[in-house]
Amino acid sequence: DLSGKTAVITGSTSGIGLGVAHELARAGANVVINSFTDRDADHAVAREIAETHGVAARYVQADMSDPAACAALIEAAGACDILVNNAGIQHVAPIEAFPREKWDAILAIMLSSAFHCTAAALPKMRAAGWGRVVNIASAHGLTGSPYKAAYVAAKHGLVGLTKVAALETAREPITANAICPGYVLTPLVEDQIPDTMEKYGMERQEVIEKVMLERQPSKEFASTEQIGQTAVFLCSPGADQITGTTISVDGGWTAL
Ligand code: NAD
Repeated sequence: DLSGKTAVITGSTSGIGLGVAHELARAGANVVINSFTDRDADHAVAREIAETHGVAARYVQADMSDPAACAALIEAAGACDILVNNAGIQHVAPIEAFPREKWDAILAIMLSSAFHCTAAALPKMRAAGWGRVVNIASAHGLTGSPYKAAYVAAKHGLVGLTKVAALETAREPITANAICPGYVLTPLVEDQIPDTMEKYGMERQEVIEKVMLERQPSKEFASTEQIGQTAVFLCSPGADQITGTTISVDGGWTAL
């Protein structure tokens, strides 16, 4: 039961971050939703979570590519008992053609933001006498793929940061872990299906199994709810001695 705890989830207006926010709220946590935009729809996401789960939920705009905005997000949250570093983007290109600004943006949003948010959150967790850092890494935090230099480097870096955060808090009631999802059917992924069907002249199911889930032996997507429930587990007493490690939710990808 996470009643009375406050969770900050970066990049949580859609996809995995939104799924994690819903599951933490279902478990009773108050949640702070974040993205870099400031639209009515962003605040509506927070209102819907509050109404659905009967918790306090609010939206705080902060661009995770900006170190000062990362610190400001944690400050604006008030309490931060649970920090979920989730914001992320992707860009696919061979190393020699990888745009420098995409490399910088991916490292900033997916790795440096986790450092800045963790640095701002740990004093609050220490003051509260309890804390959980949950980093949303990836199967690409443990394995590589061609053309994803920045993403794979950022996710491996995030797994490394997770270990250091765990060691620095090892004697305290604070843990830090990374969840490593395989392919998850988020709106972002769903949107790619029609184009890929056209490109390869394949049916929807064929695209999913042969193109998208090529490396996922279960041939099924993980769901945002499953990632959220893994985060809830990491926040439960059963996970008190789990720290500095990764939990794969990847249908067997990293067993290959
Ligand atoms: P998504 O695009 O649905 O969600 C990404 C979220 O990050 C959005 O809310 C977006 O607004 C936010 N965001 C982007 N740039 C931001 C910025 N500068 N500042 C603040 N917020 C920003 O994608 P998703 O699939 O839900 O991905 C979420 C996380 O999960 C990412 O870190 C991604 O690498 C990781 N992941 C996804 C998959 C997958 O298959 N979908 C697999 C493994 C890991």
